[in-house]
Amino acid sequence: ENLKTDNPKNSFTIGIVDDVSHSSLPMVPPVSTEPKGTVRCKFWGLGADGTVGANKNSIKIIGDHTDMYAQGYFSYDSKKSGGVTISHLRFGKKPIRSTYLISEADFIACHNQAYVNQYDLLKGLKKGGTFLLNCLWDESELEEKLPHNLKKVLAEKEAKFYIINATKIASDIGLGGRINMVMQSAFFKLADVIPVDEAVDYMKQAIEKTYGSKGEKIVQMNKKAIDMGMEALHQVSVPEAWIGGTERADDKKDEPAFISDIMRPMNAQEGDDLPVSAFAGREDGHFPMGTSAYEKRGIAVDVPEWIKENCIQCNQCSFVCPHAAIRPFLLDADEQQAAPEGFETLKAMGKEFDGMAYRIQVSTLDCTGCGNCADICPAKTKALVMKPVEPQIEAQKANWEFATTVKSKADLTNIETLKGSQFAQPLFEFSGACAGCGETPYVKLVTQLFGDRMMIANATGCSSIYGGSAPSVPYCVNEKGQGPAWANSLFEDNAEYGFGMALATGQIRGKLEDLMKEGLEMDLPNELKEAFQAWIDGKDDAKASKKATYDMLPLLEASKGNAVVDEIITKKEYLVKKSQWIFGGDGWAYDIGYGGLDHVLASGEDVNVLVLDTEVYSNTGGQSSKSTPTGAVAKFAASGKKIRKKDLGRMAMTYGYVYVAQVGMGSDKNQLIKALKEAEAYPGPSLIIAYTPCIAHGIGAGMGKTQEQTKKAVEAGYWHLYRYNPMLKEEGKNPFTLDSKEPKTSFQAFLDSEVRYASLKKSFPEEAAVLFELAEKDAQERYSIYKKLAE
Ligand code: SF4
Ligand code: SF4
Ligand code: SF4
Ligand code: MG
Repeated sequence: ENLKTDNPKNSFTIGIVDDVSHSSLPMVPPVSTEPKGTVRCKFWGLGADGTVGANKNSIKIIGDHTDMYAQGYFSYDSKKSGGVTISHLRFGKKPIRSTYLISEADFIACHNQAYVNQYDLLKGLKKGGTFLLNCLWDESELEEKLPHNLKKVLAEKEAKFYIINATKIASDIGLGGRINMVMQSAFFKLADVIPVDEAVDYMKQAIEKTYGSKGEKIVQMNKKAIDMGMEALHQVSVPEAWIGGTERADDKKDEPAFISDIMRPMNAQEGDDLPVSAFAGREDGHFPMGTSAYEKRGIAVDVPEWIKENCIQCNQCSFVCPHAAIRPFLLDADEQQAAPEGFETLKAMGKEFDGMAYRIQVSTLDCTGCGNCADICPAKTKALVMKPVEPQIEAQKANWEFATTVKSKADLTNIETLKGSQFAQPLFEFSGACAGCGETPYVKLVTQLFGDRMMIANATGCSSIYGGSAPSVPYCVNEKGQGPAWANSLFEDNAEYGFGMALATGQIRGKLEDLMKEGLEMDLPNELKEAFQAWIDGKDDAKASKKATYDMLPLLEASKGNAVVDEIITKKEYLVKKSQWIFGGDGWAYDIGYGGLDHVLASGEDVNVLVLDTEVYSNTGGQSSKSTPTGAVAKFAASGKKIRKKDLGRMAMTYGYVYVAQVGMGSDKNQLIKALKEAEAYPGPSLIIAYTPCIAHGIGAGMGKTQEQTKKAVEAGYWHLYRYNPMLKEEGKNPFTLDSKEPKTSFQAFLDSEVRYASLKKSFPEEAAVLFELAEKDAQERYSIYKKLAE
């Protein structure tokens, strides 16, 4: 089409509407080059619900048993859990050469009813096409439950519309949440790719093959799912009236432009349709903070309910929550008055909170249902009980909204304690990390302690994915608009990246000092000069520089017009001492980024490194790193790792001027806070290595026990807690403090509690016996070295 025009565009782009530099060619109606007779199917699934697996299976059935060609492509979002998966399948008698997503579909299925309000599910459905929806609703409820737009398109496209309650069928049969077999069978019945009887045969054969080894009962349950999937399909007659109708008023929300114009379309999988001009003003790539709070994904099945009578106000639930979805709130008298009905409170404990009320509030739509909060609750009778989310969503919505308006009372207490820290606002919330992730509670705590003046360089890995998967940013700001500045560079240069940030900040603050010294010699108000002096004296001390800054700001305003004062004002964001952090996983710190990390630690610069040690490359699927211990099964170590874990902490200690700590939240929360506090205050490089349970470990007790698992790791002598503080040397003391006690439980039993070890016993029993003994010896040797250092 371009060549046919009088002035064909040279060097053009296609696919994105470039209305800024006008490089793009206009899009013609969706391209479909599939040969006639190709059946095109699209499936909307929830991450890990089995949809993708079932679709791969369908491709195999059709590809293996018929003379048809089959093609499949699976697109995912970047959430670590509870994300969306879209499967694009094509089948046909002729070869399929369509290397692009399905633009026109004969069949669309949605496996999750919540999606009807989140995505444009029917985009590309051909006229007279089929739509299959898995939902708990019956036909009479659809009028009310389905959004206007979906109904309209169904009617306009004269679609064949089917519903099925696969969730109930699967649960009745005993398959729990695994709806995939039911949905697969419904697909074969409706999509008309191969005769239904044959499809049933093939699916049942596949079941024998896949589940045969798991016993007859499981085979039968799955076969039953197939039969019931066929029977339970219900065709809905689509009323013509659905073409008209109006959008419900509450479909339109009052929210920032970025959220409605960029984030919502991107999250709805429509980001590719945004024109380039939508990003005007963001040429440097910056995104606003705190956008994850608008997602309200509602992915939990069970959420904690607070039983206030049992609560001892310890704040541990909030401390360990990986998603910042449960928090303590303190209400003054006015706030108690303003609280909605049902916002029940306790009298706050502690004399600093005299007259205040205390409440634990859950954001049910942000909770992932991991259960760590309820598990950790130390109350004699649990003050948190996991209960089905459904009734609680409505009950807690207004309560959470009100809670977010309650003013922070963190100033009244010492936030550098277990309980106090949780009254500080987390400046990292609602990330897309896996439910129960061991990494995010550390990240959240660091932002509670230092977030208002923090800069973070983040290595690529899980922490960069949940830390900033566009458009959703979990790092947020406080009432004053202060929060962590966060950026992710590469995997191989993250320490250097953070080092560069520290040097740049240092330069600017050095310049500020020069300016103030100049100012001291000028004719300026005495008060301002005193503020300059106070700032210079406390420049590198967080508290002192904060105080001096807030004292100085109004005085600067009053002396505007003076060249020096004006220049200080342009750099005022740098007045408060920055807390420079470098985050990353073991794959970065122990392996690929190690050269840079070593260089930066050696430099002596005042940076804080947090290593989230999952002992594998978690983000890419669990490859072995130098942090993987002897005997652990990982990718590239299928028969168990043969060599021991590197002792990164001890290597860093050899410099003598690097602060080093090993921590484990679930084992000792106070030691963790101590280490974070000391590391941040240390005016040189600091390295904190944190034990972080991960889905890659296959924790037998599940991801609701990640805190408990850390405790077990320390008790068994698998992980050790210590702090090496060079400052103590100046006081003539031993810089090394061993914080772990002598191991008291079985090391081997700990290994048995995780699939990464236990599986080796099955696949290579002899190897396992040798390696596990070696693993125990390695751990013992490490402990005895630490003990000697402590003596
Ligand atoms: Fe947080 Fe998990 Fe508790 Fe939900 S269940 S509030 S995500 S700890
Ligand atoms: Fe209350 Fe339990 Fe939370 Fe402690 S952990 S604050 S006792 S609900
Ligand atoms: Fe999930 Fe493990 Fe990554 Fe956490 S560290 S987000 S648990 S893969
Ligand atoms: Mg890792």
